[in-house]
Amino acid sequence: MDGGAIIRAVMALSGGMDSTGLLLSLLAEGYHVTCISYEYGQKHSIEVERAKVNIQYLSEHGIFVGHEVIDLKSAFSSLQSALTTDSILVPEGHYEEEQMKSTVVPNRNAIFASILYGYALSISATEDSDVVIALGVHSGDHAIYPDCRPEFYDSIEKSFALGNWGSDRISMKLPYINQDKVYILRDSINNCNHLGLDFDTVFRNTNTSYNPDESGISSGKSGADIERILAFNSIGRRDPLEYIDTWENVLENALKHKLRHHVMKENGTERPFTGLYDKHYDSGVYNCADCGQTLFSSKSKFDSGCGWPAFSDEFQNANIEKLVDNSHGMTRIEVRCSECDSHLGHLFHESKGPRYCINSICLEFMEE
Ligand SMILES: [Zn+2]
Repeated sequence: MDGGAIIRAVMALSGGMDSTGLLLSLLAEGYHVTCISYEYGQKHSIEVERAKVNIQYLSEHGIFVGHEVIDLKSAFSSLQSALTTDSILVPEGHYEEEQMKSTVVPNRNAIFASILYGYALSISATEDSDVVIALGVHSGDHAIYPDCRPEFYDSIEKSFALGNWGSDRISMKLPYINQDKVYILRDSINNCNHLGLDFDTVFRNTNTSYNPDESGISSGKSGADIERILAFNSIGRRDPLEYIDTWENVLENALKHKLRHHVMKENGTERPFTGLYDKHYDSGVYNCADCGQTLFSSKSKFDSGCGWPAFSDEFQNANIEKLVDNSHGMTRIEVRCSECDSHLGHLFHESKGPRYCINSICLEFMEE
């Protein structure tokens, strides 16, 4: 801040952790902030209530933030998304998975940014000031949400500037665009210390889940939840948010999803002797953990001693795909699910016969 001049910012406060982190960073930099929250028919409208609670918490600590809640429910009522449409369920699992694309709301961020731009112009005119539009988008959003990518914001900033008088006093600020959720949490810890706020209280007053229950409590299982839980784990803290299950259980589930994604989508390998089904000999079938296709029967399972589940044959009609794999200086046969193309493990032809060496995390057992 120079010479006590007021520096103005407008931002979208969803009530989630990224925009809450953004608010803390603007306040720590000395901005006078106006927050806009949108009600757009989201199933997780609890987030707007949480945003209000945090604004109240800030005011109790002498930090005053303008807050407007804008009703866009009717405008969004015909837009199809798992976040807004009752007949489309919010998928569970790791964020990067293909199915998470159903949580995209058509043109959402362009609509939100347009409104923010209009606010910024109005504030600039009435207060005779420069105004920064701040957004909490981060790199973790880029893969699934095209309207969270830097090139999109570069482009709309140019378009809005072209379409308005007074746009020379408006600029966009996206401090987290090349950062991730872990960075946002670390930044927030510093900013809370700087502002004299309690980090756990602030983040208890947020919502990240896309499908919280009626009382606003999260299952910890939607993709957004899992990403949040892993971020708190990365900074060595418990998420202060209340979940339906204990922190230990939601964390275990999140770590399982992370490992499953790594093995099945990035051709990873779980550590030997760690899988649930390595020494598992109940009677039943083993299905693909991603798509549910039946891959193996317990009748062909045996103890190979190598640390991963081993099968002498695949289930009838499983049609497991076999590919030559020359990675790691070896020639092996890689096996993949024919239904969803997920990596499963390898097939070895040994003196005793075939051995399908499968990562336990790729399988879901079903009792017969
Ligand atoms: Zn599959």
